[in-house]
Amino acid sequence: MRKYNIPIFVPHKGCPFDCVFCNQKRITGHIKSVTPDEVTDTIETYLKTIRSGSVEAAFFGGSFTGIPIEEQSALMARVQPYIEAGRIDGIRLSTRPDYIDRSILDNLKKYNVTTIELGVQSLVPQVLAAANRGHSPEQVEAAVSMIREYGFSLGLQMMTGLPEDTPERSIYTAERIIALGPDCVRIYPTLTIKDTALEVLYNRGEYVPQTLSEAVELSKRLLLMFEAAGIDVIRIGLQPTDEINEGASVVAGPFHASFGELVESAVYYDIAAGGLSGMTGRVELYVNPREISKLCGNRRANIIKLEKEFNINVKVKGDNSLKKREVRCVAVKTT
Ligand code: SF4
Repeated sequence: MRKYNIPIFVPHKGCPFDCVFCNQKRITGHIKSVTPDEVTDTIETYLKTIRSGSVEAAFFGGSFTGIPIEEQSALMARVQPYIEAGRIDGIRLSTRPDYIDRSILDNLKKYNVTTIELGVQSLVPQVLAAANRGHSPEQVEAAVSMIREYGFSLGLQMMTGLPEDTPERSIYTAERIIALGPDCVRIYPTLTIKDTALEVLYNRGEYVPQTLSEAVELSKRLLLMFEAAGIDVIRIGLQPTDEINEGASVVAGPFHASFGELVESAVYYDIAAGGLSGMTGRVELYVNPREISKLCGNRRANIIKLEKEFNINVKVKGDNSLKKREVRCVAVKTT
């Protein structure tokens, strides 16, 4: 069944934290709080475009459970009539690990919250400290076990390329996340956004962002780790917006409007390369038609690289019998 989120952006006005990658503090004066009426309007607008499937109202953007509990309740109350009418299945929200306690979870249960996503970012103490996150790995573990105890579905979000981070530390974080057993994860390579502490560090030469290819390669390894553990990776890379875009607020870092596609293409490159060993001359690569663009890569980058690497001539063809991530390599005999 197709899953839909109705995204309702709830900026955390007055967030007491100051994570190095976040520009919330500096733009606080311009942040407009979402009102209960806007929740209803957003739901109405989205429901007109959704035909059938599982639908969740998704409170994203800040730390939902960090806003005053009466405000949380007022926003969630507007979703209830739609849940009672069977038009929305539940609520999902994102928050910080240290904004989880029993009174908060009791209230979320009351309002039919189904999924809680925690911004973990890293499980390495030095990385959390350098990012000025203000929470520890132990607080993540405590929040996860409480969320599980209440029976919520759990999502964990991690970042790569933070100050003091390394690929090995990201792999370690992913291993710890796998051990925590979430239902889904999101992977966000760090971007240097305008008006953040990270921008200052970057301008001083004290922070070196990941390159696009480093971020793609590491995200690919993480994706395969989570998939092997049976954990759904629901997003890789920040969603492009008016703000999060080249020439907008992104100062540096591995931004690409289709970052997740680049990672999928990197997976396909490895699969195709693995099937090509020993082949020469003309080669046909068969893949499910829906996956052709991923196999070819951005501007045919995978095909160009494969042709150069293996000294072959590649033609890509569709084959409906092949599953996702299946590639059949056939050497074409020439007479
Ligand atoms: S990332 Fe979240 S917790 Fe950190 S400063 Fe921004 S809003 Fe606050």
